[in-house]
Amino acid sequence: MTSYDPKQYVQGVLDQDRRLLAKTITLVESSRSDHQEVAREIIEGLLPHAGKATRLGVSGVPGSGKSTFIESLGTNLIESGHRVAVLAVDPTSKRSGGSVMADKTRMERLSGRQQAFIRPSPAGSTLGGVARKTRETMIVCEAAGFDVMIVETVGVGQSETAVASMTDFFLVLMLAGAGDEIQGIKKGILELVDAVVINKADGDNIQKAEKARREYETALHFLWPASPTWIPPVLTCSALTMAGIEDVWQTVMDHRRRMSKTGELERKRKHQALDWMWTLVEDGVRQHLYENKQVKAALERITRDVEHGRVSPSAAAGELLGYLRS
Ligand code: GDP
Repeated sequence: MTSYDPKQYVQGVLDQDRRLLAKTITLVESSRSDHQEVAREIIEGLLPHAGKATRLGVSGVPGSGKSTFIESLGTNLIESGHRVAVLAVDPTSKRSGGSVMADKTRMERLSGRQQAFIRPSPAGSTLGGVARKTRETMIVCEAAGFDVMIVETVGVGQSETAVASMTDFFLVLMLAGAGDEIQGIKKGILELVDAVVINKADGDNIQKAEKARREYETALHFLWPASPTWIPPVLTCSALTMAGIEDVWQTVMDHRRRMSKTGELERKRKHQALDWMWTLVEDGVRQHLYENKQVKAALERITRDVEHGRVSPSAAAGELLGYLRS
């Protein structure tokens, strides 16, 4: 199938053909423009069949237990009849060197299951590019009948914001006993989360985890909740012993029920779709600008002029934008 018939891919994905599912995602992730063109057509064809899954974002610093947690939760979900796709957003990963995120070797129990699909982070030099590919892969997986999407990210930079803006429920895994927990937490993250989960609450760590739980609860208490219907809870679990994992999932379901009832889930999804559209428009305009011949010819001169104060930044911006109109 070298001529890329989009219809064949769409049908293959809908028929849950794993080979075509993987091939479709490869097209989605490709940077070749002919691939991107087919991928766009396939996505359009799949879109009416997507959107029904529960989308869960999972963040946490390396070592917090993300892959162990996702594997435990994912295995539980499969046992109760779900089909689970695990995707990742990690702009630092280089596919050629073997991505560290959502790696098959990290989730051996889950990756062997027919009802699971695990995809490492797409490679890419910009977060926007990586996030776009993961969003589109999510659509493909949903159309292929996966009803739970778990999107993993590391607790660095803007990737958490990106994942929070493509999921229904965003949680962060934390560890207890690392001294003053609240000090170590990035301020912004608490404003993004729908729940904080203290992992590794097992053995000698149970009491410390409970103490940390209370501290986070207090910290969250002082924040203005993002939704009038949801105050982010703080839970403890052990991804290793599976204790508390079911409670985490029940919390996700409880959130879903409440947000669906008030219409907030639908509004959130609409808002996310529009946000995404604008991100793509802005990326497109930027790319258009950089590819413009006149811009290319003038950029070096304009850059120097602005650096040396010969031209004001606003006049320079006006000149560059002007080339887009001509
Ligand atoms: P990630 O880097 O966030 O994906 O973390 P991993 O899932 O790779 O876990 C890092 C280490 O912590 C591994 O050695 C795990 O076995 C261990 N670990 C993960 N979850 C738990 C847990 O709930 N309890 C204990 N005791 N260890 C855990």
